[in-house]
Amino acid sequence: MRFNKVLDGIKTYEAGKPIELVVREFGVKPEDVVKLASNENPIGTSPAVAETIRNHAEKAHLYPDDSMFELKEALAQKFDVDEGNIIIGAGSDQVLEFISRALLNETESVLMSAVTFAMYEIYAKQMGAKIYRTASYAHKYDEFMEAYKMYHPKIVYICTPNNPTGDATPKEEVLRIIEAVDRDTLVVVDGAYMEYAAAKDAAMAITPADLIGYEHVIYLGTFSKAYGLGGMRVGYGIAQPQIISQLYKMRPPFNITTLSLAAAITAAKDETFVRDSVALHQQQIKRYEAFAKENGFDYIDSYTNFITYLFPEDMDSTAISDALLKRGVIIRNLASYGMNAVRITVGTARQNDIFFKHFSEVIG
Ligand SMILES: *Cc1c(COP(=O)(O)O)cnc(C)c1O
Repeated sequence: MRFNKVLDGIKTYEAGKPIELVVREFGVKPEDVVKLASNENPIGTSPAVAETIRNHAEKAHLYPDDSMFELKEALAQKFDVDEGNIIIGAGSDQVLEFISRALLNETESVLMSAVTFAMYEIYAKQMGAKIYRTASYAHKYDEFMEAYKMYHPKIVYICTPNNPTGDATPKEEVLRIIEAVDRDTLVVVDGAYMEYAAAKDAAMAITPADLIGYEHVIYLGTFSKAYGLGGMRVGYGIAQPQIISQLYKMRPPFNITTLSLAAAITAAKDETFVRDSVALHQQQIKRYEAFAKENGFDYIDSYTNFITYLFPEDMDSTAISDALLKRGVIIRNLASYGMNAVRITVGTARQNDIFFKHFSEVIG
């Protein structure tokens, strides 16, 4: 069968490996598997959210409220924007897909940093668009503007904090890029890890309200990381209404589930859970920084819930990730990004103890 030829250039996204796979392939007991590969919240689901999900279990036969009014109202209050500024997606991933389908075709291009979230490229390639990248993984004004003037891309992606590297871009720098590009280019500011960055350094904190005055910008956020709802698939885009109304044309009806919607409404109001999650993370990540220094390798200063270890030549990220996997420790190898590096989601104290033990043995 002949498939659409744009598919030839697309590599299937490789998601973090599930616990079930490690149990099946390596015979590790499920309770001994430590999953630090997908940047989920290690604390788990907030008790208030779990209760909401249980309370909605008997409503699974009903479609959700397709207006998603209550969730939009909660987000509008939290971020000081209007309900009409918001679109909800099955993860912010789905909003990225809407954006790509609404703006791109074979004659357009997109611009992103050298190493960034893999789905930007995949969604753009699905539309036949060309991909341009800057030289650095950090989002640098000069590099972005040089490439921007050369290619005039339809979309500029700014992932801050950046995944899979963990670095963040100061708000000043993001605003400079936004100001400098033409109003017919959409700037996507992906703040999937913004809760962590904002808690660490106010200079990196960007809120939707900071950007809502621009007619060519959309801010993306997600419930999958700090809010602990990766399994529920809820994210959002916040922009001026003329952007939101166009993206709505790409949205299938009932695009998140009845349980997801209920869960996200409770989560949006559960500020304590996010604060506690970030606080635990800030303690535990110090151990990862100390561990790298003790073992003589480098890391990228992280503004996210993960840390990226950069290995010297005599340490191979693929061999290390594979050896850890056999021991039931799942982390993310960054070899496919052209880096001899691994990305590790910072876990609970207990998970991190297990990681350090196995890692020491593997490299020892
Ligand atoms: C996790 C992540 C997302 C989206 O996750 P969803 O689960 O689809 O909401 C978007 N961007 C980045 C950079 C991410 O790391």
